[in-house]
Amino acid sequence: MNQTTKTILMFVGALILVGVALSFVSLNTTEKVNITTIAQDIQDGKVKSITVEGSTVTATLSDDKKVQADKEANETFSEIIKNYNVDADKARNVPVEIKDQSGFAYWAGAILPTAIPLLLVIAIMWFFFRQVQGQNNKAMMFGQSGARETRGDTKDKVTFTDVAGVREAKEELTEIVEFLKHPDKFTALGAKIPKGVLLMGGPGTGKTLLARAVAGEADVPFFHISGSEFVEMFVGVGASRVRDLFTKAKKSAPCIIFIDDIDAVGRQRGSGLGGSHDEREQTLNQILVEMDGFEPNSGVIVMAATNRPDVLDPALLRPGRFDRRVVLDPPDINDREAILKIHAKTKPLAKDVSLRRLAERTPGFSGADLANLMNEGAIMAARLNLKEIPQQILLDSIEKVLLGPERRSHVMNDDERKVTAYHEAGHALVAHLLPHADPVQKVSIISRGRAAGYTLKMPLEDRTSRTSEEYKEDIAVAMGGYAAEQIFFGDITTGATQDMKNATHTARSMVTQWGMSEKLGPRTYGEHEDMIFLGREIHENRDYSDDKAVVIDAEIDRLIKEGLDKAKHLITKHKEAMERVGEKLLAQETLEREEFLNTIGLPPANEKNLI
Ligand code: ADP
Ligand code: MG
Ligand code: ZN
Repeated sequence: MNQTTKTILMFVGALILVGVALSFVSLNTTEKVNITTIAQDIQDGKVKSITVEGSTVTATLSDDKKVQADKEANETFSEIIKNYNVDADKARNVPVEIKDQSGFAYWAGAILPTAIPLLLVIAIMWFFFRQVQGQNNKAMMFGQSGARETRGDTKDKVTFTDVAGVREAKEELTEIVEFLKHPDKFTALGAKIPKGVLLMGGPGTGKTLLARAVAGEADVPFFHISGSEFVEMFVGVGASRVRDLFTKAKKSAPCIIFIDDIDAVGRQRGSGLGGSHDEREQTLNQILVEMDGFEPNSGVIVMAATNRPDVLDPALLRPGRFDRRVVLDPPDINDREAILKIHAKTKPLAKDVSLRRLAERTPGFSGADLANLMNEGAIMAARLNLKEIPQQILLDSIEKVLLGPERRSHVMNDDERKVTAYHEAGHALVAHLLPHADPVQKVSIISRGRAAGYTLKMPLEDRTSRTSEEYKEDIAVAMGGYAAEQIFFGDITTGATQDMKNATHTARSMVTQWGMSEKLGPRTYGEHEDMIFLGREIHENRDYSDDKAVVIDAEIDRLIKEGLDKAKHLITKHKEAMERVGEKLLAQETLEREEFLNTIGLPPANEKNLI
């Protein structure tokens, strides 16, 4: 039942009650009669006594029954007796009591008829007003911060044990928790408690989760607002929301203000496009003003999270503002195992499940990806009516998270299937035969996401930096599909478009960003700026001459051509192996790692890739 129906029902109930009460009041033992009847009764000698109260005449009859009649207000009882021709001595025998109308009854009689509807109207207005407020109608309170306040002791409390990995970040934040719990310990030694902490890390590394864990650990009020909420609805309210938020927070110090995704408001000023730019600037300015405005040891700590620290306004990072910076690293293999363990807690796993093995197969996955992986596994197992989640389903979920769901319904005709099979065989063969490329885990011609088929390669270990040789091989692997189509069919399909894009992007980055071209030397070309609304690069600040632009193009062409030549060379040299893999793919659609190794019949260029 929704709020409105409830209110209406309450009203109807109240009205019925009022009606019942009123009917009780008028429910009297006296019978209403005409004034003539009473006069007649007196004439007949049936009346014992008379009471006159205001304009009401009550007669007590000889059988103790009471009757009541109204008279005109300005007419006295004796006049009535006269007017109705009652015998004077008959009237004299009846005692008449004249009562003053009591003050309350008189006023009630005069006021209630007008007051009741008025009261009803007021009550209605009050009800509706309360409703509007209850539903948190933003139109009525748009200048307020809208921050959600949580206390540490809520039901679904998150603590540090719910966050795996990110050891350094947890250590730093433990300190913040200490500050909040025992500020005197620090101030006694003259230590200044930091005002601002900035959490930095890629998407899904657990920034929001960790901030909630700090609140849970510290057990202090926690005001949570997302950067985009400052600017969401009405222009011109961002700054007042900030003010409101800080006022509220200062009242409940010690406490934490958490601004999630602060890059939504905290991007570098003066680089904006379009209308909301001023709005952001004002909001950001207000945050800076507020942060400067309170004393360092006032017990309010501002936490903020971003996955784009590079675009933040330098003013935010100045001392006295977000001077603590906490970096959340992407999880390594041990972290990944620990994260999987956390998310496996509520899920019944089959005996054959090895979380370690899953962690090995998921380099580059973020915490959110891993949570998603376990969830996909549980969903799939439930759809198959299993009681436990087996390892194979979890392994399949890895691909689902990486590449999107399989599209078995995507119907390919025989020609398309053949081209796709040889295209994927091309990628796989080139990857298999280059010394630095990642080992092939799986080849398939089942459509996934937008790709017609896919070759799944996974690095053996986590990597942070890579060499130019590795990138060159990446380009060769990407061109493997294109090369295979050209060699076996003499033509190219659109299936190679994404591959070419990837290759071009890698080549461009090598030349312009990573200093991997001898001709262009160790410098970067072009500064990339972000467009606020789309959050991605659309605009390149060109800081090089036209001559250099020609060289950049030539270098990109060269790198791609070298990669393509390498791929073509390997594919022509091992045509039979290509045909073996291609035909096997056509026959069974998917080759797992062992099957692929058996089919290709060539040793991998990198001995490590054998296992
Ligand atoms: P971010 O804010 O960094 O983008 P979130 O904190 O929203 O990422 O993480 C999304 C989800 O991923 C979390 O709710 C949690 O389930 C999972 N997750 C991310 N990192 C971790 C981690 N280190 N330990 C456990 N779970 C994690
Ligand atoms: Mg987040
Ligand atoms: Zn391809």
